[in-house]
Amino acid sequence: MESRYIPAAVEEKWQKSWANLGLDRTSTDESKPKFYALSMFPYPSGSLHMGHVRNYVITDVIARLKRMQGYRVLHPMGWDAFGLPAENAAIERGIPPAKWTYQNIAQMRSQLQRLGLSIDWEKEIATCAPEYYKWTQWIFLQFFQAGLAYQKEAAVNWDPIDQTVLANEQVDSAGKSWRSGAIVERKLLRQWFLKITDYAEQLLNDLDKLTGWPERVKIMQANWIGKSVGAYLEFPIVGLEEKIGVFTTRPDTVYGVTYVVLAPEHPLTASVTTPDQKEAVEAFIQEVASQSELERTAEDKPKRGIPTGGIAVNPFTGAEIPILIADYVLYEYGTGAVMGVPAHDERDFKFAKEKQLPIQIVIVPPGTGKTVLKTSLKQAYTEPGTVVNSGAFEGMDSTKAKDAIVQYAEQKGYGKARVQYRLRDWLISRQRYWGAPIPIIYCPSCGTVPVPEQDLPVKLPEDVAFTGRGASPLAQLESWVNVPCPNCGKPSLRETDTMDTFIDSSWYFLRFPDARNSEEVFASVKTNDWMPVDQYVGGIEHAILHLLYSRFFTKVLRDRHLINFDEPFQSLLTQGMVQAVTYKNPLTNKYIPSAQVNEQDPKDPETGEALEVFYEKMSKSKYNGVAPEDVIAQYGVDTARMFILFKAPPEKDLEWDKADVEGQFRFLNRIWRLVTEFDETKVRQADNLSSKEKELRRAIHLAIKEITADLEGEYHLNTAVSELMKLSNAIADSKCFDSPVYAEGIETLMQLLAPFAPHIAEELWHLSGKTGSIHQQTWRAYDPDALVADEITLVIQIMGKTRGTIQVPAQADKQELENYARQSEAATRHLGDKEIKKVIVVPGKLVNFVI
Ligand SMILES: [Zn+2]
Repeated sequence: MESRYIPAAVEEKWQKSWANLGLDRTSTDESKPKFYALSMFPYPSGSLHMGHVRNYVITDVIARLKRMQGYRVLHPMGWDAFGLPAENAAIERGIPPAKWTYQNIAQMRSQLQRLGLSIDWEKEIATCAPEYYKWTQWIFLQFFQAGLAYQKEAAVNWDPIDQTVLANEQVDSAGKSWRSGAIVERKLLRQWFLKITDYAEQLLNDLDKLTGWPERVKIMQANWIGKSVGAYLEFPIVGLEEKIGVFTTRPDTVYGVTYVVLAPEHPLTASVTTPDQKEAVEAFIQEVASQSELERTAEDKPKRGIPTGGIAVNPFTGAEIPILIADYVLYEYGTGAVMGVPAHDERDFKFAKEKQLPIQIVIVPPGTGKTVLKTSLKQAYTEPGTVVNSGAFEGMDSTKAKDAIVQYAEQKGYGKARVQYRLRDWLISRQRYWGAPIPIIYCPSCGTVPVPEQDLPVKLPEDVAFTGRGASPLAQLESWVNVPCPNCGKPSLRETDTMDTFIDSSWYFLRFPDARNSEEVFASVKTNDWMPVDQYVGGIEHAILHLLYSRFFTKVLRDRHLINFDEPFQSLLTQGMVQAVTYKNPLTNKYIPSAQVNEQDPKDPETGEALEVFYEKMSKSKYNGVAPEDVIAQYGVDTARMFILFKAPPEKDLEWDKADVEGQFRFLNRIWRLVTEFDETKVRQADNLSSKEKELRRAIHLAIKEITADLEGEYHLNTAVSELMKLSNAIADSKCFDSPVYAEGIETLMQLLAPFAPHIAEELWHLSGKTGSIHQQTWRAYDPDALVADEITLVIQIMGKTRGTIQVPAQADKQELENYARQSEAATRHLGDKEIKKVIVVPGKLVNFVI
C-alpha cells in the first residue's frame, strides 16, 4: 500500500506539542542576536481570508528560519480592534461593540492557530482593551504636552435627517447617507489634529535610511508628503487693505498672471465680492459646500468657478486682474488661493478658455524668439524655456529666472521664497463610540484640561444606546459627559470624540516587546532592545497612511526620550493580493458563481450569454473567494502554505489555482515516501564516494546554499520551494539507498523543509528516530568543498555550431581543455584535416574551433 501523509491528524498533534514545549515563546537568551518579525495586525472581522493566510505564512517562514539560524525571535500577533463595523453591528443587530469584537477575535485566533504559525500568543494585544488604550490615551497626552495636538474647525459629513456625523465609508458614491438616504452635507466642527506637518521634512529625508523598503513605497510616501520649493507672493486688492497670498512653484511665470482664484471658503471671498455678484457668489458657495474634496478636485471634471467682481493687482506688472472663486481651489491646502497663469499651466489654461480670461505668454521654447507670440496657444506650455514679456528678466533662462524673481520680490516686499508640503495635519477626531476616548476635559474656568495620568484610561461606558441618530453615543450619555474639573472641581464636560483608529496602529509594534506592562506604556529598555522591527510584512494598501503615521509616532516618542531609534521598520515586504478566477457577464455586469459555470465554455446560466473570465482579488461579492478552512480540511495546512509560497514571489499577486494546490500536496507526499521508505540501518560505512554519490552531495549542498540565499533580504520564497523540489528529485533519482550521502540528503531535506511545511517536517523528523524538535535544529551551512564538481560537461563547437559534448576534469586549465576538445570524437569527425584558424576556449563551458 502507498504510504501517504495524512494532514489533519499530524498537524493537530504537533500544534499541541509545540504549545506544550513552549517552542513559540520569545527567547530571553540575550547572548543571541535579536530578530523582530511582524505581520501587520488584522482587523477582527470574524473570519480569516486567504490574504491574511498569505501575509502570516510569509512572516512565519522568516521567523522559523531565523530561530534555526540562532536568533532570538519576537513574532507576535494582535488585533486592530476598534472601528466602524463593530458600531454598525451594534446599530443594526443590537450586539454591543465589545461583545461583537471579542467574539470575532476568538474565532479568528482559533483559525490562526490552525495555520501552524510560530506566534508568541502570550504577547497578544487588542487595541480595544482598556489595558491597551490607556496607553494610547497616554501617548495622546504626550503629543498634547509637546504642542503637537491642537484643535481647529474642520468639515465633517453631516446627515441632516439622522442629525449625525458620518464616516466617509458611510457616504455612498451618490453622496447619500448609508442609513437615511439623505444628501450628505458638509458641516464645520471643532476637532483635534496632530501636527504631523512639523515632521514633514524629517519624514521625507529619513526615507533615505529605509534601505530595506521597496522603492515604490518610498516614492508613494515622498509624493504624499509632497514637498515643493517655490515662492509666497502677495497680490494687492483694489479698494481693500488686505492682500491675497498665493504659493507657487513657478515664480518665473508671474508676469503671465491674468487672474487670481480664491477657494469659496476663503475669508476674503465676502469682502472682494461686488454687490452685483453677491447673489451668484453665495449660490455658488452653497453648491460647493455639498461636494466632497474628491469631487471638487477630480481631474476629469470641468473646472467650475465664477467672478466675484473684485479686482486684484499683479504687483510685478501693475496690471489689474479679476478675482474669481472656483471649486477646485481648497481652503485647507496652501493659502486657499492660487494665481492663474493660463499660458503655462494646463488646468489654468482650460479654466481660462472656459471663462474667456486673457492668456499671456511669458515663456517660449529655447531658441524660438518672440515669433511664437504671434500664434495662439493650443495648450499650455509648461516646459522650461526663455523668459519674455517679463520686465527686467526678459531673455533669461526660465530656471534661473525663478531665483532671480523671488529675490526681486523679496526686495520689493511682494513675497519671499517658501517651501510647502502637500501633507496636512492629521485630523484624528471621530464622532463615534468604538474608539479610544480623547482624554480631555473642558472646564469653564481652566479651559482645555488633560485627564491626569492616574485617571487613565478614560473608559468607554457600557450602558450605551446605539441608534445611529443624533450626537455620538458618548455625547448622549450625560452620566459620562459630566465630570468635575481635575484642576478646580467645577462642573465640566468630557471630550466626546474618540480617536481615529490609525492612532492605535501607529504604536502597537512598540508595545509587543513589553505587552503586559501595566505601569508604563513600555519599558524603554525592552522596546529599544527589540526595535526596530527587522522584517515587517503587510499589504501595499498600507503603503502610505499606516506606515507614515507609524514613522511619525516613532519620531515624536524619540523626541520625548521614550525610545532611541529614528525609524520603526528596518525592512518592509509588501505582499501581493490573492486573486482567483471570476466570471462576469459583460452585458449585465453581474458576477456568476463558478459552481454555476462550465469552465470549458463559460456562459451565463440564465441568459446563455458568453462570460468574461479573469483573475481578481478574492471577494464575496465576486463569488471567487476560497475559504482557508476548506483548503486546510482537504489538503492540510502545510499544503496550503507550500502552495502560497511557491505560486508567486511574495510581492507579486498570486492567482489561486486548484491544480497547483494539488501539485504541492503531491510534492509533500513524495517527500513523505522518500523519508519513510528510507531505512537508515542499511546504510554502509562511509568510505570513498563514487562519482554518483559526489554528485548527490553536490546537489545537497547546492540546495543549502541556494535556499539560504533565497531566504535573505528579499525573500525569494517561491524559488526556495523550487530548490526543495530539485533536491528531492536529486535524492530520489540517485537511488543510492545504502549511501551515507543519501542519509545526509534525507536529513537535510527535512531541515530545509521545516520553515515551509513545519508539521510534516516535524513528523518525519520523529519517524526517522531523531530527537528534539526539528525547529530547534541549527540551520545547515553548506560545505564549499562539496560544491566543487569532479567533472564538467564541455561543449564542442565548430564555427559556433554545437557538434557534441565531452566530460572533462573540472580543474582542467585552458590549454588542457583545448587538448581534450581537439582529441574529442566530435572534433576529429567534423574537422577532418581542415586548417584551424583560431580556438576559443570558455573555461567551464565550451571550446569553439574557427576554420
Ligand atoms: Zn477647572
